[in-house]
Amino acid sequence: MQSELGYFDYASTTPVDQRVLETMIPYFSGEFGNPSSRTHEFGRVAEEAVKKGRAQVASIIGAKPEEIIFTSGSTEAINLALKGVFESYKDKGNHIITVSTEHKAVLDTCKYLETKGAQITYLPVDENGLLSLENLQGAITSETILVSVMFANNETGVIQDIEEIIRITKEAGALFMTDATQAVGKVPLKVHELGIDLLTCSAHKFYGPKGIGALYVKRKYPKIQLTPIIHGGGHEKGFRSGTLNAPLIVGLGKACELANNEMEDEGKRLGKFRDQLEQELLSIDGCVIHSSGVERLPNISNMHFKDIDGEALIMAIRDRIAISNGSACTSAEILPSHVLMAMFEDEDLAYSAIRISLGRQTMSEEIEIVIRVLKEAVSRLKSFTDQLI
Ligand code: PLP
Repeated sequence: MQSELGYFDYASTTPVDQRVLETMIPYFSGEFGNPSSRTHEFGRVAEEAVKKGRAQVASIIGAKPEEIIFTSGSTEAINLALKGVFESYKDKGNHIITVSTEHKAVLDTCKYLETKGAQITYLPVDENGLLSLENLQGAITSETILVSVMFANNETGVIQDIEEIIRITKEAGALFMTDATQAVGKVPLKVHELGIDLLTCSAHKFYGPKGIGALYVKRKYPKIQLTPIIHGGGHEKGFRSGTLNAPLIVGLGKACELANNEMEDEGKRLGKFRDQLEQELLSIDGCVIHSSGVERLPNISNMHFKDIDGEALIMAIRDRIAISNGSACTSAEILPSHVLMAMFEDEDLAYSAIRISLGRQTMSEEIEIVIRVLKEAVSRLKSFTDQLI
């Protein structure tokens, strides 16, 4: 990897924080016990480590430790939540409401559930990426069992009006689930205070290791039923069987602890960088920042430059700065971003969008480099396009 290549794709994944790595290392080899082996000290040490990790995850989202189910990441947690709720509540109703700008992990699971008899409503969004509360209210039927709305969008960073969405959902007697993969560790979020029933998160989005995440399931009345996907030894209270991965759980827990302590200052620091970046880039003719007028995560900026193809722009700068054109999880296919299509219904615009996301290693000098590199590249691509016309 070129050391001068700047990383600005933290919404896709983050490096493991050195403090997280150091906390995890002993559990790979020296303290290698199986957390379920309670007959000896090796197992008890691992069990204690898992207990601490569970408490750290619960703490960052204001939950109780017994409400946390460890999974391999958000995709699995989302699958467990959506399929598990549908399977358990389908006799009560078969209707689920979600949003057209959700991550593919939600959308594709919903598509699968349609083949199993679920009725799914995909709510539209406005040009800022926000759903309309009136539309939500209007979509609810007596069959609605679940409303699933992501906390913050992975492409634009837009934060939905979760409090109002929950109020409407609760009035209808449905469960509320949120994919908080991009929000946990970035903005304060307390599940009990907000009334969230199910929430998903993933360690690799906030400086923890890949391959570990969690599903929060509210335990208080009314107790949520959830049919498991993975059957086996009855781990995680039967919701997700399989030997617990102690080192990764330790890493997730430590990442939660650090994010909990540092989130406020880090949010302010990155928010300032993002504003500086956007202000400078707006001086380029044809630059449009998406969702800039509404509440967003402090670390994500999504934009387009009129008549400049996003892919061409990314290629032009790829040996100097690493950015993205949408969500990494779908970028194997060259399709316009479904999030921007839902917001603008404009293919050219969707193809021209880029995402810059900042993180813990982003420094002030790097912001200046991004600005310079993007200004140069856009100007080069513009003169090239003008020559062709
Ligand atoms: N949901 C959102 C909003 C995401 O950004 C991602 C990852 O990009 C996922 C879900 C999937 O998470 P994981 O990589 O942990 O499976």
